[in-house]
Amino acid sequence: MRSIIHVDMDAFYASIEQRDQPALRGRPVMVGGGGPRGVVAAASYEARQYGVRSAMPGVVARRLCPQGVFVSARFERYREVSAEIFAIFRELTDQVEGLSLDEAFLDVTGPVRAGRELDEIGRRLKREIGQTMGLTASVGMAHNKLLAKLASDYDKPDGLVHVPIDQVQRFLDPLPIRRLWGIGPRSAERLHDAGIHTIGQLRRTPLQLLTEMFGNQASDLLKRAAGVDDHPVKASRARRSISQETTFDRDHNSIETLLPIIREQAVKVAKRLKDKGLKARTVTLKIRSGGFSTLTRSTSLDRHTQDEELIFTTARELLVNWAEWRSGFTVRLIGVGVSGLDQQ
Ligand SMILES: [Mg+2]
Repeated sequence: MRSIIHVDMDAFYASIEQRDQPALRGRPVMVGGGGPRGVVAAASYEARQYGVRSAMPGVVARRLCPQGVFVSARFERYREVSAEIFAIFRELTDQVEGLSLDEAFLDVTGPVRAGRELDEIGRRLKREIGQTMGLTASVGMAHNKLLAKLASDYDKPDGLVHVPIDQVQRFLDPLPIRRLWGIGPRSAERLHDAGIHTIGQLRRTPLQLLTEMFGNQASDLLKRAAGVDDHPVKASRARRSISQETTFDRDHNSIETLLPIIREQAVKVAKRLKDKGLKARTVTLKIRSGGFSTLTRSTSLDRHTQDEELIFTTARELLVNWAEWRSGFTVRLIGVGVSGLDQQ
């Protein structure tokens, strides 16, 4: 039996804007949708209370929520944050299938077989995303992708839902059929016309009747209504890396105060390399300055290493070189990472 987690970030673009611009917190925020023809790319939960939804024309959103704040989409920024979140996923398992910038399936069968509780993995993942990214995610856990995805959506936002194998029918049966994969608006309408509104009703519908409606799709539909799905998580190829980052409440502006932080990060990175039996060839320093631009600087070593001192001194050199060209600086986030991983 597999152990699958589906993670879906809550109002991803809008939440990033609210995180990056404190003045937007608690306010209805629409990303995109400005201009006469613009379409809302994302709406904060405050905006959703007014009925604003993503993909809605901006003019409609503005009518529903005149006090809302429209901000332009910054896709580069969202991609950057997404990469950081996916790095958190990949620390847990390399079986990560990204569905979009803010959504992924994780196959954690390995860690569960190794004795970790699925619930605990999901909880920690949420906490990690919350603490390191300042964002909330909804997490669904089950033994297959179909159920994990329905579970993450069940208690959004900030949800954490596990559907154990003996609870599948209890979980699925009351849900509207529209929630099931493969049931679009037209199929749903036909099913409604036949008096079938919930997944439970669908599950109990005779195959013959469904075949009359959906032809050879019918048996798949019945299987899904029973919560059966055996699609594997298709891991997207990832450049593997291990990193450790710290975001500060207050900007740092001296090398002296940053050095102990990157030393500690180097120690943690080295420990994780040792835990996984890996050595790394490249050391990367990541810096986000007060103006929120993020940059990375890397050095390739002449050999693979898991030595904390070498990782630290390499990162220190990168930091010193970076700072040298600046008369003054502010650092909001700093991180040490390694890549070019190889088995020991
Ligand atoms: Mg999402």
